[in-house]
Amino acid sequence: MNLVLLGPPGAGKGTQAERLAEEFELPHVASGDLFRENLKNKTELGLLANRYIAEGELVPDDVTIAMIRDRIKRPEYENGVILDGFPRTLAQAEGLKEILTGLGRTLDGVLYIAVPDEELVHRLSGRRICRRCQTPYHIQFKPPQKQGVCDTCGANIYQRDDDKPETVRARLEVYHQQTSPLIDFYRQYGLLTEVDGSGDIETVNSALSEVVRSLMK
Ligand code: ADP
Ligand code: ADP
Ligand code: ZN
Repeated sequence: MNLVLLGPPGAGKGTQAERLAEEFELPHVASGDLFRENLKNKTELGLLANRYIAEGELVPDDVTIAMIRDRIKRPEYENGVILDGFPRTLAQAEGLKEILTGLGRTLDGVLYIAVPDEELVHRLSGRRICRRCQTPYHIQFKPPQKQGVCDTCGANIYQRDDDKPETVRARLEVYHQQTSPLIDFYRQYGLLTEVDGSGDIETVNSALSEVVRSLMK
């Protein structure tokens, strides 16, 4: 089962990917997490990506596609993967098709998590993530059990620089221009299921689980 979670920044892709990964025993891959790991390790890719991330722009397609190709050909993803944050452009969608075809696989479904912009700003401004494992939290909607500390791994949580208001606006614009065309692109292939992402985490999770279960039949 190869799935894509599509949606604007702050829609809940990372939050829901983690839940679905656990429920369906499908590992997930988040392009943003991979870039941030590269930056933490000061790799060439990380330093390059950060120039774009800091401005709220997309990292160029060629490096992004290469990074994802490299990752999902690993044996741990052989039985399937949940992609979060990739693809984000039509060129990346074509890239994904090629990657999967090369591995003798196909895309089974795209779950589009729809959330209005006003709500996204609220979610992004309160988001905190774990420095080590990148689990997302929210100061109001999903606080960690112990303030400032990740429930999963015990490391510190922090606010991403690109979750500050100036960059959030740029990211939403980039989403509407470059990523939202993927909604119709995948709809046209009959791969898209839209889920209302404006409810609470549990409600959205139930809706998504049901879609995945029906795709598995
Ligand atoms: P994305 O990966 O799509 O950018 P995240 O999963 O990181 O989104 O969620 C963005 C922020 O909103 C996080 O702080 C998360 O805790 C919070 N969040 C996620 N889903 C919901 C929800 N359904 N209701 C309220 N807050 C949510
Ligand atoms: P969010 O959770 O808010 O959707 P991500 O963590 O997925 O944000 O991405 C953070 C930043 O990393 C993006 O604003 C962009 O600069 C870069 N990025 C992540 N995924 C991609 C991608 N598929 N293509 C290009 N840039 C990406
Ligand atoms: Zn952690």
